[in-house]
Amino acid sequence: MDLKKFMRPELDRFAGYAACKSPEALDDVTRALGICKLDANENVYGPSPRVRSAFASFNDAHIYPDSCQTELRKALAGYTGVPADRIVAGSGSDQLIDLLVRLFISPGDEVLTATPTFAMYKFFTELSAGKFIGVPRDQDFNFTPEKLLSAVSNKTKLVFIAMPNNPTGTQVSKRTIEKILETGLPVVVDEAYYEFTGQTMAPEIGKHPNLMVLRTFSKWAGLAGLRVGYGLFPEDVVTRLDAIKDPYCVNTAAVAAARESLKDIDYLMSNVRLIVSERERLFQALAGIEYLKPYPSAANFILCKINGKDAAEIQRVLERRGILVRYFNSPQMENYLRFSIGRPGDTDRLIAQLRKIGEIT
Ligand SMILES: *Cc1c(COP(=O)(O)O)cnc(C)c1O
Repeated sequence: MDLKKFMRPELDRFAGYAACKSPEALDDVTRALGICKLDANENVYGPSPRVRSAFASFNDAHIYPDSCQTELRKALAGYTGVPADRIVAGSGSDQLIDLLVRLFISPGDEVLTATPTFAMYKFFTELSAGKFIGVPRDQDFNFTPEKLLSAVSNKTKLVFIAMPNNPTGTQVSKRTIEKILETGLPVVVDEAYYEFTGQTMAPEIGKHPNLMVLRTFSKWAGLAGLRVGYGLFPEDVVTRLDAIKDPYCVNTAAVAAARESLKDIDYLMSNVRLIVSERERLFQALAGIEYLKPYPSAANFILCKINGKDAAEIQRVLERRGILVRYFNSPQMENYLRFSIGRPGDTDRLIAQLRKIGEIT
């Protein structure tokens, strides 16, 4: 019996998300080298030590988490300056992207963004049988609001803008966001890397009834494995999201970790500053290697165009030497690698290997 005939036919060609290879999937020889994991924009410094201590006495594994995330939202109100009744927490900001698409997109409706960008916007749009409209960015991965808005149709129901963008690292001006907001369309500003830039639309939440802001603990607070994200929304969006989200979406360990992180902001921000200054050092080093063209980044990674060599092959060579990086090859990003920012020792190791690869051919 073939169960396919009962399945949603539009998912026949759904490709899914190509996630990074986990270190567990590498062979023992490579693992023995010590792995530099520079492929998924995680925080190499890990979480606050307060998180580790809280886990040592963690005693909430057997109870369901608060379905309203009351404590977390209250702490986030203090952190963001936005009232708790305008905040929704989720299992990573990925979950909030999913929920927003489910809230706004009926089959055939359009999600608009500037591409290349974060792959999950397309993933969740197509999973909801929506239509993903990506307006190509220019050569430097910038875009104008006019160009983006020329693709608005009567089916456009949601706009995503990553500020700054992943995987390009490109920043977008608040003025550009303001112009997109003037359309009155629902606009989601994804601030996954806010702490690395300081640029935010959060203070505008009360002023624009169509503005939504997404944040996460994955990048700045080093909690990617625990899945905690949140969003700042107009009241009517909060009401609907609360109604459609699964109640226990942020687990008790994640709530504890987020609580401790928000008590240790100075420590976490000092690591963010280390990453930002290391980013500038890595940029200079990459710019000095002739087959690489790095793009300026406002986040915790640097995108590079590879000239005259095969980026896939470089990724494989680096992987054999214990360095994991992200490979991109799409019509808009042909032959690119993205390097997450590590510790100074990771930068040294990466640069030494990239130089060696340059000497071979
Ligand atoms: C990493 C990332 C996210 C997802 O973060 P999680 O909270 O871990 O789901 C969202 N948006 C962008 C642009 C990202 O780079």
